[in-house]
Amino acid sequence: RALNFNAGPAALPEAVLARAEKEMMNYQDSGMGVMELSHRSKQFEAINEVTKSLLRGLLNIPDDYEVLFLQGGASLQFTMVPMNLLEEGSAAGYVLTGTWSEKALKEAQKIGSAAAIASSKSSNYKSIPSFTEIDVHPDSSYLHITTNNTIYGTQWHDLPKKVNVPLIADMSSDILSRPLHVPSYGLIYAGAQKNLGPSGVTVVIIQKDLLKRSRPDLPSMLNYQVHADSKSLYNTPPTLSVYFLMLVLEWAESIGGVKQLELQNKEKASLLYDAIDSSDGFYKGHAEKESRSLMNITYTLENEDLTSTFLHEAEKSGFIGLAGHRSVGGCRASIYNAVPTEHVEKLAKFMNDFRLRN
Ligand code: PLP
Repeated sequence: RALNFNAGPAALPEAVLARAEKEMMNYQDSGMGVMELSHRSKQFEAINEVTKSLLRGLLNIPDDYEVLFLQGGASLQFTMVPMNLLEEGSAAGYVLTGTWSEKALKEAQKIGSAAAIASSKSSNYKSIPSFTEIDVHPDSSYLHITTNNTIYGTQWHDLPKKVNVPLIADMSSDILSRPLHVPSYGLIYAGAQKNLGPSGVTVVIIQKDLLKRSRPDLPSMLNYQVHADSKSLYNTPPTLSVYFLMLVLEWAESIGGVKQLELQNKEKASLLYDAIDSSDGFYKGHAEKESRSLMNITYTLENEDLTSTFLHEAEKSGFIGLAGHRSVGGCRASIYNAVPTEHVEKLAKFMNDFRLRN
């Protein structure tokens, strides 16, 4: 197996891939591969339901929340959230913590009134604004945050217990990485391709009360109420992605759930942050310490030549996906749930060895 540090699509648990390999040809003695099942078949309806209940169990999702499996990626949620939830005569507040929250705001502004109410842009998104500094107007339709900033490598650590308007969170790159207090949120969305499975399915967890805001004149495919009414089977769903999501959730449950995943994620992240912090400035972390992400570790080296030598040697040693996003430069190691601790240990060792050689 490659040492895969891609930002998404990303590594999947080996056990998941091994099981899927068998079921590609013959799913539960049906004589059909899992991709060949009709989405109206009993087998697929069971996959759909089991996947939902696994997610409910793992994230402790209360009954007054609906779980939806949609398409269009997290990017379509940038549009669907304001289309469904932004009320006439009201505005939405956005906290800007990186490229993805900027994009979410830009799309919302095409639908209605939305504005940034806090931002860490002036510090090149090295940190997360504190929740006590965020002043949400009580008449706002909602407040939007991005819990983990995949590109800049920052993450919210003190998430709010309750905000006075519905809190909407893009959790694409950290859902299922730590325990979550769902009742603090009005809506959570996440593209699957980082912690949940392959690309193709987007998870939406929405408080049932908020479904009332979805106007019947919205296009059906963009209407949360339509998808809730049809149990995410309004049209042909991405059956293979939902099946993989089920396998990943079963795997997460089998290893001890989100508490165990959080422990592992902390351990993995500290291996790399230690390599950075003990390097005497050879590696510089992009994020400020208190805002560091446990999922995406971003760092730079002294200059472009050294960075490209690092990336070149890393690639020769079998490390995949370590180049930083073009807007930050340097390097980024994405260490989602499925990246084994041993792979991260190898990377930490490689970073230390490279520093000593250079
Ligand atoms: N939000 C975050 C935090 C992301 O990391 C990404 C993609 O990397 C997106 C949104 C966009 O997701 P998608 O490609 O599923 O539309």
